[in-house]
Amino acid sequence: MNTNFLLSSDSNNRSELLKKKIIHYYIANGDATIADLGREMDLSVPTVTKLVTELQEDSYILDFGKQDTNGGRKPNIYGLNPASGYFVGVDMLKDKLNMAAIDFKGDKVQLEENVPYELKNTPASFDEFCRIIEDFIVSLPIERNKILAVGVNISGRVNPVSGYSYSIFYFDEKPLAQILEERLQAKVFIENDSRAMTYGEYMKGVVQGEKNILFINMAWGLGLGIIVDGNLYYGRSGFSGEFGHFCMFDNEVLCHCGKKGCLETEASGSAFHRILTERHREGSNTILAGKLDSGKEISLGDLLEAVRKEDVLCIEILEQMGFNLGKGIAGLMNLFNPELVILGGTLSLAGEYISLPIKSAIRKYSLNLVNQDTEIKISRLGERAGAIGACLLSRSKLLGMIRY
Ligand SMILES: [Zn+2]
Repeated sequence: MNTNFLLSSDSNNRSELLKKKIIHYYIANGDATIADLGREMDLSVPTVTKLVTELQEDSYILDFGKQDTNGGRKPNIYGLNPASGYFVGVDMLKDKLNMAAIDFKGDKVQLEENVPYELKNTPASFDEFCRIIEDFIVSLPIERNKILAVGVNISGRVNPVSGYSYSIFYFDEKPLAQILEERLQAKVFIENDSRAMTYGEYMKGVVQGEKNILFINMAWGLGLGIIVDGNLYYGRSGFSGEFGHFCMFDNEVLCHCGKKGCLETEASGSAFHRILTERHREGSNTILAGKLDSGKEISLGDLLEAVRKEDVLCIEILEQMGFNLGKGIAGLMNLFNPELVILGGTLSLAGEYISLPIKSAIRKYSLNLVNQDTEIKISRLGERAGAIGACLLSRSKLLGMIRY
């Protein structure tokens, strides 16, 4: 018996591939009988019976006994065993980490949000990052060897296949995913943060059957996740979705990518912060004046709080940013003709203060016929989308469900 065939990577083993497909089927469709499985997977009943029996021996699948039907033969029904393995997800924000764990069925076991962490691109900050994840893993009510994979979201340019992160923590010849595996003693998949959030929202959030989706991650930076025909779109090296660095302005503002005029310089948390500081210096008043004058760090939480308290300057800045962002999104809609655009990330917590100007610009700048096709919704998972998405994505990657 091979209890850990999911961790072996023999992609040529047909029976292992089929077993992964069976698990995949249960994830997508819920419990099912052998006959259902055989029909859906185009396999004979004896073949499915053999594979399901092996999956039961490995404890991934449970036999729930006869189901209640209206007369006739009552076949046994099978489903995933939630306790057969667990997945951990880590989402990195500028000043905190959110972490989650899910069981094999995808249900949440634990969620720890707002763990203080100051992201700096230094080896010491990386050590601290690993220590916090390790503490979280140790705190879980799960045996360590039952953690099948850890998904870690990294902002910026990430190649999920090679495991390299190019924007953050690129200190070593080795891929970051491998370094994390050695530190955490577990299988690790790294992913671009916006893409992982998109997946979380797709699997457990606001998506209701739509297959062509754009997810806008409005946080300190500006990111984009793309789903085409139900699959995450990665591009050649995993760098797709760099929406924030779309050159849209002639503003002389240097972006952290090194270029200028990027959309992110006029529509993101960092833009909000910069414009607020400038406007305050020019004499505009705000309830954040005290913090600005004392040179204290201002978090996205502070900015959102000011908007909630109806600080007029902050609302004005957010409206202008929303309009700029909406122009960019209108362009994306003309390109992709999506069914759904999700407004997500920390700034989506501002609700209509940001969504209304975005929608107004979309109406103004997108092609009418195209935008009639598209629904625009605010993310349901909010900031949790990252950690939940990282868990779900690590499960799907382990099962070979993700096409790069
Ligand atoms: Zn840029």
